[in-house]
Amino acid sequence: MGLDRSTIWPYDERGEPRDFYYSRYGSPTVAEAEATLGELDGGEAVLFPSGSAATTSLVLALLAPGDTIALAAGCYFGTSVIFKALAKWGLRYVEFDQTGPPPDDVQLVWLEAPSNPFLTMPDLDAAAAHDAPVVVDSTVATPVHLRPLEHGADFALHSVTKYLGGHDDTLLGAVVGRDVEELRAFRTRMGISPAPDAAWLLLRGLKTLDLRVRRQTETATTIAERLRVHPKVQTVRYAGISGLMSFDVADGDAARRVETSLRIVVNATSLGGVTSVIESRHRWEGDRVPAGLLRLSVGLEDPDALWADLSAALERA
Ligand code: PLP
Repeated sequence: MGLDRSTIWPYDERGEPRDFYYSRYGSPTVAEAEATLGELDGGEAVLFPSGSAATTSLVLALLAPGDTIALAAGCYFGTSVIFKALAKWGLRYVEFDQTGPPPDDVQLVWLEAPSNPFLTMPDLDAAAAHDAPVVVDSTVATPVHLRPLEHGADFALHSVTKYLGGHDDTLLGAVVGRDVEELRAFRTRMGISPAPDAAWLLLRGLKTLDLRVRRQTETATTIAERLRVHPKVQTVRYAGISGLMSFDVADGDAARRVETSLRIVVNATSLGGVTSVIESRHRWEGDRVPAGLLRLSVGLEDPDALWADLSAALERA
């Protein structure tokens, strides 16, 4: 289907609304992208204008003042920033090690598969055994490597901006669940509706998702193996899926020299695109990460050309 940018559609001949009437409620391109993503992840998808909008909406739709979220320690920094901001509305969060069971007395469990930038994988069975609803941010795993609903999670969340879009040209988020009607109604009432252009770019991205992510996984596996035996590299974190990894060089100055010496790998934020990007996360996350930590998102370039670029830059570490 083509891109439909309309915000209105005519009522039928009896004056009744058809499937689409006003785009805050729903639009054909968004609906098609939701159907395609829902099928991939084994549930019903609801799109949001960004991954962060998906996170905020899901938490506000599910929880009430006084509730507590168990948040996987070391997961995407921005998620903790959102939860901190929501303290003003009476929501609290506690961090826990997602490789084990979540703490008792929480009303929502928030996992990340794998965590960004520490690359730990959650214990999905332990989380599914918890009474509270379970959300898995599977932005990095993608449905190519993980379908969280099949492992007992209630919701999968994606920053579509990353692998699903795949080309660093669309900001979009998604929640996939078995029962999303409340969330969809919340989105419509609050006006947190996605743009059809972004949904169209998601449809384009999904056509190559499997190919892209499999190739990125293959290349990243090779790069991680080579980094592990490189004398200037101290620690390599890679979950063995997708193109995301992090590794440590000696200190913050060494990290800065490496990230600014690369020629093919772009020194920029974000991840999951066809272009490889690297950045020191210390500039954003401070002492939550080691000063020498570099986060690398492997793209679709030739693996040997990427390695030549990385090993030349590491000489300057
Ligand atoms: N979840 C993860 C794992 C992310 O890496 C990001 C962004 O970096 C987000 C959520 C937030 O997504 P967005 O930037 O689309 O709001």
